[in-house]
Amino acid sequence: MSYLGAAFNEKRTPQSQPIPNTNQVPNSAGGFSFPVDDWIRLHRFLILGSEGGSYYAAERTLTAENTEAVQRCLAADGERVVREIVAVSSAGRAPKNDPAIFALALAASLGNDATRRDALGALPLVCRTGTHLFHFAQFVDGMRGWGRGLRAAIGRWYSEKPVKEVAYQAVKYGQRDGWSHRDMLRLAHPKPDSDARRILYHWITQGWERIGDAPHDQKDLQIVWAMEKAKLPGTTAKTVAELVRTYELPREAVPSGLLGERIVWESLLERMPLTALLRNLATLTRVGVMESRTWQNHIAVQLTDAKRLKAARVHPIAVLAALKTYVQGHGERGKHTWNPVAKIVDALDAAFYASFGNVESTSKRWVLALDVSGSMGGGTVGGIIGLSPRVASAAMAMITAATETNVETVAFQTSLQRLSISPRQRLDDIVKTISDLPFGGTDCAQPMLWAMGNNVEADAFVVYTDSETWHGKIHPAQALRQYREKTGIAARLIVVGMVANQFTIADPDDAGMLDVVGFDTATPQVIADFAKG
Ligand code: CA
Repeated sequence: MSYLGAAFNEKRTPQSQPIPNTNQVPNSAGGFSFPVDDWIRLHRFLILGSEGGSYYAAERTLTAENTEAVQRCLAADGERVVREIVAVSSAGRAPKNDPAIFALALAASLGNDATRRDALGALPLVCRTGTHLFHFAQFVDGMRGWGRGLRAAIGRWYSEKPVKEVAYQAVKYGQRDGWSHRDMLRLAHPKPDSDARRILYHWITQGWERIGDAPHDQKDLQIVWAMEKAKLPGTTAKTVAELVRTYELPREAVPSGLLGERIVWESLLERMPLTALLRNLATLTRVGVMESRTWQNHIAVQLTDAKRLKAARVHPIAVLAALKTYVQGHGERGKHTWNPVAKIVDALDAAFYASFGNVESTSKRWVLALDVSGSMGGGTVGGIIGLSPRVASAAMAMITAATETNVETVAFQTSLQRLSISPRQRLDDIVKTISDLPFGGTDCAQPMLWAMGNNVEADAFVVYTDSETWHGKIHPAQALRQYREKTGIAARLIVVGMVANQFTIADPDDAGMLDVVGFDTATPQVIADFAKG
């Protein structure tokens, strides 16, 4: 008779079949999951992007699917789409700004009149650097014509910035993707409101005037003069270092032939933005700057300053990538080598936790469960080589593990094992531990079944997964309800989506289950708040 009972059972359904009377859909792994709504899909796309694709979908397919979801959101509520793009981008919640720029270009092209206006109004909030603006131009160029509204918005991008800032942008971000400031200004024709601005626009569109011996008498334009001066043949490292100090030249303005000079890097370091500092740690070590304890301290202090990390929108994924590269002592292509400085490695480890901001501890009992099945090894997070969703989820879990006192961390595929990783270990060790685990099939009900079978008390299960579950005899949502019945604990399930697909194991009709997006810097606090109820 049991085959008859199994044919329709809302409490215990094999993952190869949908739970009766739900909207479950087939996932890419041959099982059934719940579909997330388009707004969660938009959020996943803004944070995780589609670069590198996933285990199941090529980059192109994944991007196309996400584009369709954004279009449906635009049709439903364009104003909300723009609001969500700005919220994610301006707070630096995503590892990369490109998905936000792409979504903004979609809104500025495919939205209704009001949405297009909103999107163009938000341009400076989302496109904060010249490179962002060029990416936007490249995206929007393929989506719509260069009408008056678009040109005016580009014009405002320049005219609403102080002259000094436009000059800095022109020096730091020359061109990208075949677009330059010259192209932008020629399209937009903003009217200069001062002599300095008129000269600068002229320089950008027509080329710099011949450089004199003395700096330009317009103070805001002297950075351009300094860049040209630095480029003159035969300029020494000492002169360039002085120009960097006096005129605040960024690294991009230093001739490449002088980028191996210690004194140049020391001059750059005095005002180096944190994001640039993260990218140049290896070079700073290689050229000898780190031989100085004073500089080591200077760098370590900046890297661990939570306020500065937030102000510079340093994303934890960028820190993780920097740490991963820095400790290995050689570049991805192995061309350059360096001896990692322990103080800097420790500072990077601390910076990772600090870059999520302060998350308040709950007094809850936690099970943090990492999906280490085969599919989690496909694709990359933030487009970073070697950073699969599987490895990235371990780092993500450590944020909650570092905040909470009562935590069990486990890894599962079709079976489950406890993990002896903790935030007291360095992040690169944790990453290595996870990388060495065997791959396997997927049963996302494992954490709840394991807790039930082993009398583990848990108020919150956090599952880091792509929700491509198929193997088990019972769906994860059903396993959670069984756990609640058996233990009397009103346990909650938080699904941390690590891939920008449309699936989740969380039942949208169960108020005790929640979908969040992996590597949104706001996620750890949302997880804590939800667990508290
Ligand atoms: Ca899987």
